Amino acid sequence: MAAPEPILEVKGLKKYFAIKAGVFSRVTGHIKAVDGIDLRIISGETYGLVGESGCGKSTAGMTILRMLNATGGSVSFKGRDVIAMGKNELRNMRKKMQIIFQDPYSSLNPRMSIGEAIGEALEVHGIAKGSERREKVESILKVCGLDSYHYRRYPHEFSGGQRQRVGIARALVLEPQFIVADEPISALDVSIQSQIVNLLENLQEKFGLTFLFISHDLSVVKHIADRVGVMYLGRIVEDAPKKEFYSSPLHPYSQALLSAVPSMIPGYDKKRVILTGDVPSPANPPAGCTFHTRCPRAVEICSEQVPVLKKVGPDHYVSCHLVKEAW
Ligand code: SF4
Repeated sequence: MAAPEPILEVKGLKKYFAIKAGVFSRVTGHIKAVDGIDLRIISGETYGLVGESGCGKSTAGMTILRMLNATGGSVSFKGRDVIAMGKNELRNMRKKMQIIFQDPYSSLNPRMSIGEAIGEALEVHGIAKGSERREKVESILKVCGLDSYHYRRYPHEFSGGQRQRVGIARALVLEPQFIVADEPISALDVSIQSQIVNLLENLQEKFGLTFLFISHDLSVVKHIADRVGVMYLGRIVEDAPKKEFYSSPLHPYSQALLSAVPSMIPGYDKKRVILTGDVPSPANPPAGCTFHTRCPRAVEICSEQVPVLKKVGPDHYVSCHLVKEAW
């Protein structure tokens, strides 16, 4: 059977930030935040992108949405090249591709009521104004578990969980098909986290949404994702269906991350893999496999050659010299 067509396909995506120094602001190097990643996300699925903080996950999400300009590579959304789009086409595409931030408070204008903040996009895109705009906003507030009286309230009057509901409502009001959820529950109390995860799952079912769910929390990703990608220093080191990833992770970095989560893999909690050393700087990543400075299984070749992301199962990809190509 042919593989289902992806709604989003990312190939060789790069995002480098220039390092400037001196009075003439000369470029002295680059921070390779995203260094050539490939992703395929099927319509209606949730792709969990995991890794330690600073590994490039959020930058990847923002570059996919073209909130940041890519240094190289391509992003295809429903067959259209997002990177190559002109202003007007991109503006239309923005309705279909939205983001939920970790901290919705910082992206809300404290002087604007919630109703105005959510409805602004409807007006900017010429979708609705006046009473129609208000009706649409109240309806999306209800869908997100808020009430119509919240329309007139201001951001400081909301709790953390309510603010995230507002953030979700703002992403949904334009009726998108694809959403980057960037650590959407990390800033919330544990008691509220599951409510927001349930809300996202319900919304996905109701509207047929596709998510790129960015998180450092492997337990949450296990619950919500269909597929998992692991990032380390700007690259994807493992990409697999959820079940396979959690039952038999193959990359030493994935194994270390999972071993830190109690009972995530049978036997692993007894044999925790402790990574030594800090994550190297993306401005000066190690040669060869960028994980070799911390990898408990590193051998000579690891510091000399960059491992490619190879197919090791029907739908499982790993970049490690020690993992054999299977196909
Ligand atoms: Fe470890 Fe070498 Fe595999 Fe990199 S290529 S993950 S250093 S064993």
